[in-house]
Amino acid sequence: MFVIFILIVGLIIGSFVASTVERLAHNKPFLSPRSMCPHCGEIIKLKNNIPIISYFIQKAKTVCCQKKISSIYPIIEITSVFIFFINFTLFSGQSLLIISLLTTVFLLIFFIDFYYFIIFDNILFVLIIISIFSFLMNNFNPFETDIYYSFFASVGAILIFYTINRIFFIIRKKNGLGIGDIKLIGILAFWTGLSYLPYLIIFSSLLAILHVIMNKYILQNSNDILSIQSPYGSYLVTSFLSMIYLKNILVTFA
Ligand SMILES: [Zn+2]
Repeated sequence: MFVIFILIVGLIIGSFVASTVERLAHNKPFLSPRSMCPHCGEIIKLKNNIPIISYFIQKAKTVCCQKKISSIYPIIEITSVFIFFINFTLFSGQSLLIISLLTTVFLLIFFIDFYYFIIFDNILFVLIIISIFSFLMNNFNPFETDIYYSFFASVGAILIFYTINRIFFIIRKKNGLGIGDIKLIGILAFWTGLSYLPYLIIFSSLLAILHVIMNKYILQNSNDILSIQSPYGSYLVTSFLSMIYLKNILVTFA
């Protein structure tokens, strides 16, 4: 019974995230009351809008106009279910609420940056609100940091990354990181504090480099290896979330 509950929560969040990713990426309003077909604008009937299931029954085509449905939808919905199973397994109470809000925002950041290479300010703003709420109201503090170290970590991370970006710009005449990435690391550093910030930077950078290598040698991207874009924001939130999960597992089972 509980498994079905988590499955439904994961699917609802997943389809919210998937439609928001597509809306934001295509400059449509952030929130919209009904789901509309992105091709012909017809309102999608509820029975044709069941997460994952509709995609496979309709063989990845819309009912209204028989156009292709993006594979982003099932990919995000399945990822979301997987993440919410981990959340419900590892956390409870207020911590579960905070981690659920955080992972919803992380799913948005991950997929928008992964597919469209952009991190929207309004999503970062939501992340700041959740962070402040968590620090003020809640004792969910996965990296056991205090406000002073958090502040230094945050300012330090922004300065270091901003400087690296400037140097990169002077040498290569283009930005290595987006401004969104720098803002994101500033917020995440507030959570990690000074002790865990180096891990966050190392893990996310390794993943970002791996992304470029995979693109070049496995997906056979024909671009020069230094000009292949890597969604650093996606790997920041992936590393950050993995660190929270790992920390929780180590504390629980050690
Ligand atoms: Zn249509």
